[in-house]
Amino acid sequence: MVEKFQAVVIGGGPGGYVCAIRLSQLGLKTACIESRGSLGGTCLNVGCIPSKSLLNLSEEFHKVKHLSNKGIEVGEVKLNLNKMMKNKDKAVTVLTKGVEFLFKKNKVTYFKGHGSFKSKNEILINDKDNKKTTIFAENIVIATGSVPVSLPGINFDEKVILSSTGALKIENVPKKMIVVGGGYIGLEMGSVWSRLGSEVHVVEFLENITPGMDKEISNEFMKILKKQGIKFHMQHKVEGIKKNDFGAIVSTTDKDGNKKDFDSDVVLISVGRKPNTEGLHVEAAGIDLDEKQRVKTDKNFKTNQSNIYAIGDVIVGPMLAHKAEDEGIAVAENIAGQSGHVNYDIIPGVIYTTPEVAAIGKTEEQLKEKNIDYKIGKFSFMANSRAKAIDDAEGFVKILADAKTDKVLGAHLIGPHAGELIGEIGIAMEFGASSEDIARTCHAHPTFSEAVKEAALSVDKRAIHS
Ligand code: FAD
Ligand code: NAD
Repeated sequence: MVEKFQAVVIGGGPGGYVCAIRLSQLGLKTACIESRGSLGGTCLNVGCIPSKSLLNLSEEFHKVKHLSNKGIEVGEVKLNLNKMMKNKDKAVTVLTKGVEFLFKKNKVTYFKGHGSFKSKNEILINDKDNKKTTIFAENIVIATGSVPVSLPGINFDEKVILSSTGALKIENVPKKMIVVGGGYIGLEMGSVWSRLGSEVHVVEFLENITPGMDKEISNEFMKILKKQGIKFHMQHKVEGIKKNDFGAIVSTTDKDGNKKDFDSDVVLISVGRKPNTEGLHVEAAGIDLDEKQRVKTDKNFKTNQSNIYAIGDVIVGPMLAHKAEDEGIAVAENIAGQSGHVNYDIIPGVIYTTPEVAAIGKTEEQLKEKNIDYKIGKFSFMANSRAKAIDDAEGFVKILADAKTDKVLGAHLIGPHAGELIGEIGIAMEFGASSEDIARTCHAHPTFSEAVKEAALSVDKRAIHS
């Protein structure tokens, strides 16, 4: 007999699992199908969580090595990479098991297997033992995420030519790593391996790292990373990668047509990710994809089929876990007859390097392009007492406000705990705050958040500590 569900979610990543829990909370009989054998998707298994674990551990290793500068003498500091990796794996296991517990608690039926469409209401599940089950769904949410892209003609072997997944489980610290692409993954994973002892070279096609980021922040970011020892080769296009006995040779051409080869023990290709609809058989349900092979949806996440929806990395928009989660909740509420909503103007982005980089709302470049008059408030962590007290004072806070109304239009931070500080600006923006509202809010002393208040004061040229 075919089991029937009111809602079925295909994919158990941050978009899918959050959506399934919300659907169940709203009283719908819900199932979630996940093929990788554990819940949490890219984010928990091979993305946000393992990368943040390694970023933290490698930063601790780096800090301990330099503690004597701060008057703390330690003995010889040695790296046990195997133990560090086990620590990372433990974090992943605890969190993915945690999601399984949440499914049980919320009565979401969990199917371990690969889901594909048989029709617009039937899904075939193929488990690891090739056992096939068909289920019926009134509503279906596609949350199948994304996968790394490589360069034309180059395949990941995850030993020498790595995607982010391979870069999270290197067994010995490589002497030299070439990172192709200076975006989120390249800079986070490049930082990890640089701190652990690799010579890291970032080869980037464009003029700036992290394209789309406010240029002033992006320039400061690159300056700081260079000081940390990462080498940058900007406006270099990678044309080919050839493996040899020692690793690989990466062939590039710069903007003037000059060719340069880089030898390397390992190469991390981090040039973006693509939507994942492989083996989903969308055609069996008549679902349209767009020109980039993303599932096409309207503003309510509905596909061209009235009972089928899509969210997360597999649709248009930034490929971020919190964007996927918020869409998961919104679509569940829409399916249950409520009015789910995501405010795409206020989605924060954070790069978890040291220092962290965080952004929300419009960049200066975007405001110029839209001919919007704006004021800038800036405050350096060099003048923030907490940052100075702990000798962690690189970077600044930049707030952009409308020239006439003072409404906050964007904020861009580089500095200690930037990824946490962006939260208060997000809330302020969600409530339509002006920079004066932030400036008038009492911030505890001594905290990093005072730099946000001072940047808000500086919009009106009245910062106190600069
Ligand atoms: P996914 O997390 O990709 O989940 C989709 C799931 O669907 C997968 O588990 C897949 O196995 C499953 N699936 C696919 N097809 C089928 C099928 N046919 N049947 C059954 N199951 C299927 N984002 C952040 O916001 N912060 C970060 O710090 C961050 N760090 C990252 C670090 C790295 C190294 C990487 C690679 C990504 C990072 N991201 C980060 C991005 C984040 O991981 C993604 O945006 C997020 O996971 C997208 O969620 P999703 O639910 O749409 O898809
Ligand atoms: P990305 O889009 O962030 O960066 C890719 C970079 O590669 C760009 O700078 C691009 O100009 C460059 N590039 C493209 N082709 C090139 C070539 N042939 N030679 C040299 N450079 C080239 O992509 P990513 O770093 O792979 O990350 C994928 C996505 O995963 C991100 O966009 C982000 O959404 C997500 N992610 C988020 C976080 C986070 O939130 N902290 C961390 C990791 C990943």
